[in-house]
Amino acid sequence: MPHNLHIYNSLTSSKEKFKPLRNNTVGMYVCGPTVYSNVHLGNCRTFISFDIIFRYLKYLGYNVRYVRNITDVGHLEDNGEDKISKKAKVEQLEPMEIAQKYTNSFRNVIKKFNVLNPSIEPIASGHITEQITIIEDLIKKGLAYTSNGSVYFDISNYNQIDTYGKLSGRNLDKIKSNSRSLSSQDDKKNEFDFALWKKAEKNHLMKWKSPWSEGFPGWHLECTAMSNKYLGDEFDIHGGGIDLKFPHHDCEIAQAVGYTGKQPAKFWIHTNMLTLNNKKMSKSLDNNILPDELFSGNNKFFSKPYNPNIIRFFFLQAHYRNELDISENAIQASEKGFEKLVEMIDRINNLKASKNNNDDFFNQIKEWEKNCFNCLNDDFNTPMLIAEIFNSSKLIHQFEKTGAIGLREKDYFLTVLETLLNDILGINYNKSKSDNDSILEILLSIRDNAREKKDFDLSDSIRDQLNKLGIKLNDKN
Ligand code: AMP
Ligand code: ZN
Repeated sequence: MPHNLHIYNSLTSSKEKFKPLRNNTVGMYVCGPTVYSNVHLGNCRTFISFDIIFRYLKYLGYNVRYVRNITDVGHLEDNGEDKISKKAKVEQLEPMEIAQKYTNSFRNVIKKFNVLNPSIEPIASGHITEQITIIEDLIKKGLAYTSNGSVYFDISNYNQIDTYGKLSGRNLDKIKSNSRSLSSQDDKKNEFDFALWKKAEKNHLMKWKSPWSEGFPGWHLECTAMSNKYLGDEFDIHGGGIDLKFPHHDCEIAQAVGYTGKQPAKFWIHTNMLTLNNKKMSKSLDNNILPDELFSGNNKFFSKPYNPNIIRFFFLQAHYRNELDISENAIQASEKGFEKLVEMIDRINNLKASKNNNDDFFNQIKEWEKNCFNCLNDDFNTPMLIAEIFNSSKLIHQFEKTGAIGLREKDYFLTVLETLLNDILGINYNKSKSDNDSILEILLSIRDNAREKKDFDLSDSIRDQLNKLGIKLNDKN
């Protein structure tokens, strides 16, 4: 399948032509959510970015095995407490109930954004034996050591066979200890060694038997175990948000190189952050918006509900490697852009087409199509692609003026747009409004009429009942 796809590889800091390791199959691993709370819009932006990559690789004809894991163990608070266990205590549920609850909620939300299911969605706690096997191997090779029932990766020994930190370009001297993956500095030989296995404290809820102690694996190890199990020693793409580049991904590389002797992924792809008020959206800070809050209008940052399709379109108007700040003005601009897009497609549908082919127009459409795919081939440049799609308005204008478009050209034009918007960008342009949205609009217009006629019983009743459904109305007057 000839194509000219170039991908920015974080490992080499350059755009490289994409060629899979094995014929027409592609193995892609993306770090999934930690399921101790609801995913916020920032997390969704990252998963939508990888959805575009998945869709485009499939469009190119590749057989893609897309593995996106669920992290339900090993992700620690700064004080060493497991995030899921902590939430289990707060919500008075079993840790596995917490993990299941937020896995379900993640899947529901991501579906609303029209994100395709991965091929495999492995769960960290289901792969403890695989993680123990890797640790045993690393100990045998002198790349890990035990200490008081815990096991640590030995960075200075690793540096004899490869350089730790080459993905992020961190210099060891400057590396500060990583509080996310360990709780106690004292057990380690060097401050930058990281935990592969942690002995559990007495009250720790999620623990497993191992040759070293009853405990749990370090967070970095699960991704090495699951990517290796499902994609092999070497695979094509590893992805995640840019905040995972260090230490998580550098640790993954070290573990995998130590275990297999091979570099695990050929391409590393990192997505940039969604910000709110120019600060990284984050689960732990009070600086996040949950998707459902945005869809229902029930949040303190936005005055009305927004459709997931519009939010997806808004995300795609920025390149995945650029930071993006979310604000009501920006989303409203996307909403207007989306309406323009739908109008444009209506104009094509309304073109009067004859049975006679028009080769000149056909070539112009094909030229435009080529430009569109050039954008995707340039590191999945969706904002450029959307600009190019809007550019087709000039063609439409010309066709409207001359009225000489043939059925063949019209069909081809619509098919290309449908492929780009529906199949690759995952935007249901003909479904910009769900039935619920349309019903809501009818209700709101009935309520506006009632308010004009000063029928406040009716208008208040509509407001209160919508409120009960989580839909908040902000009356500006
Ligand atoms: P977590 O559940 O925290 O492990 O995050 C799941 C994914 O979301 C990871 O790939 C993170 O890098 C990514 N992520 C976290 N915060 C943001 C953000 N503000 N914008 C974009 N992606 C994010
Ligand atoms: Zn990971």
